[in-house]
Amino acid sequence: MSTNTVKAPNAHDSMFEAVLARLDVAAKLMNLSDEVTQILRNPKKEVKVSLPVVMDNGKIQVFEGYRTIHSTHLGPSKGGIRYAMDVNADEVKALAAWMSFKCAVANLPYGGAKGGIKCDPRNLSVNELERLSRSYAKAMKDIFGVNKDIPAPDMGTSGREMAWMLDEFNKIMGEDCPGVITGKPVAIGGSLGRDAATGRGVMVNTLAAMKKMGMKVNEVSAVVQGFGNVGSHAARLLHEKGIKIVGIGDHTASFYNEKGIDIKAALEFAAKNNRVLKGFKGATEISADQLLISKCDVLVPAALQNVITEENAPKIQAKLIVEGANGPTTPEADPIINEKKIVCVPDILANSGGVTVSYFEWVQNKAGYYWSEDEVNAKHDIKMELAFEQVWNSASTYKTSMRIGAYISALQKIEQGVKLKGSF
Ligand code: NAD
Repeated sequence: MSTNTVKAPNAHDSMFEAVLARLDVAAKLMNLSDEVTQILRNPKKEVKVSLPVVMDNGKIQVFEGYRTIHSTHLGPSKGGIRYAMDVNADEVKALAAWMSFKCAVANLPYGGAKGGIKCDPRNLSVNELERLSRSYAKAMKDIFGVNKDIPAPDMGTSGREMAWMLDEFNKIMGEDCPGVITGKPVAIGGSLGRDAATGRGVMVNTLAAMKKMGMKVNEVSAVVQGFGNVGSHAARLLHEKGIKIVGIGDHTASFYNEKGIDIKAALEFAAKNNRVLKGFKGATEISADQLLISKCDVLVPAALQNVITEENAPKIQAKLIVEGANGPTTPEADPIINEKKIVCVPDILANSGGVTVSYFEWVQNKAGYYWSEDEVNAKHDIKMELAFEQVWNSASTYKTSMRIGAYISALQKIEQGVKLKGSF
């Protein structure tokens, strides 16, 4: 891999600018037409709604809701809904663009979208969350559609919120439309295997990269940051494949054990401890900053964005980074990682297992016929291995990093969609 540098604004200025910085590097390298570049630099539709909700105390509070459709050139737009206090138009736009590229990388017949509500879900009662979710679904009734725009859970939301939104949408449509939303509970049309899918994709991508790099499973150690949906399943599945997990961490505590951490014990501990690791006894507690730079072969950032920066990138010891989270590496850290010859499997490939199984959920909903978990996993692994191979080959052909290779792989497919449909 060569050392193409990405000149970008500071990651804290604008997340969307950080996406455009990588898009521009890839577009130049592959000679993407100016028209297609311009189309992709501008999201197709941005919606902002105000959501008045009656709170439990009887007073009305108004929340901000967002939905951005970045592109629909390869199919209906697809992307999650995030509940967090820092949700804003720029972040939603960046995440929507990433979804366009992620779906294209994974060879899914989708464009990209993202939505969110600026709120702190931990400070809302279940009843308030239900009224807020239903109000958002109602406000987005003309945006969402089985063949138009298909949301899913993201940070701060889960199958529960998807069920409320589906119910609201069904009432408006006057019929059951399970395919309008994915990440649903299995009982109401969700897919088996969806819960672990993003972690599974991280595992498949890790093994694929290790094979290319000549790294052997029983000689490799890994650190996983984040012990939520993505991190815990990734740690469990890597551990099951025989990789020694030496470090884990979440927002409450980080741990290291060079002999290997008993991941089953950590999972059982977190399950009984409000899903957090603080107080875990199977390893030495270290600082969150230390976790990312501790001795390991594989680093899996699976918590939040902008954690690998120009400050800590020079100290990273891993040979391979597999990005479980969205945007864990700042554009400023990219050239440092490339110069150190660390292979980085980028987020738009590494965490695309989740949207891949969301696609399977949508297909099952449309067919009204449901698959076994083994069938879902087998189909997932085939798609993920193909996507990895395409990105690896694209990086080799253009002598660039896997990140830019992934953008090129996505842009080639989206460019075809734009040209074939003629939707300039
Ligand atoms: P989650 O809420 O289930 O888990 C997040 C984890 O990160 C928790 O363990 C939390 O403690 C930890 N964390 C939060 N702040 C931290 C900090 N400052 N330091 C260390 N750890 C911290 O979320 P998730 O669904 O696992 O998502 C994690 C990332 O993966 C996000 O970037 C998300 O956008 C991305 N992602 C998730 C999916 C999915 O299917 N869940 C799919 C694609 C991408």
